[in-house]
Amino acid sequence: MNDYNENPKQYDPRMHSAEHVLNQTMVRMFDCRRAVSAHIEKKKSKCDYAIDRALSAEEVGEIERQVNEIIAADLKVSETILGREDAALRFNLARLPEEAGGVVRIISIGDYDHCPCSGIHAASTKEIGSFKIISTDHSNGRLRIRFRVQDEQVPLDSSRHGGTRSG
Ligand SMILES: [Zn+2]
Repeated sequence: MNDYNENPKQYDPRMHSAEHVLNQTMVRMFDCRRAVSAHIEKKKSKCDYAIDRALSAEEVGEIERQVNEIIAADLKVSETILGREDAALRFNLARLPEEAGGVVRIISIGDYDHCPCSGIHAASTKEIGSFKIISTDHSNGRLRIRFRVQDEQVPLDSSRHGGTRSG
């Protein structure tokens, strides 16, 4: 099954790059796979993960924090071309069409994330701007995250918890 839709008219390299960072953040935080389906558009996007529960407000805040940390680190987005067989040893190629041929393009976001992808990306993570989760919900074994990106860095809301955390 492949319901990984990306509407060409709405295609936005920043949003799509944010999706890569979000996927890796989810893999690291929840030991899940990358999004099982995604709908990426300029204004707002959504990604679904095979996670068997809803998230707490703290977890949602932590995802945002980690994604924004990677954006702020201004990691370079680069590509590597691998032979399909080599790529298959390291990556799940299920989403790449067979017609893609004998080579696979791996997109790297610094050392943070490596993923086979044929899309168009920001040159570095800072171009993404800032990442904001609009909402999350859980149903039928899927966690859905709706998010957007925006140009300006959002001032951190530190009033509620009495300051910022470090470490
Ligand atoms: Zn991509």
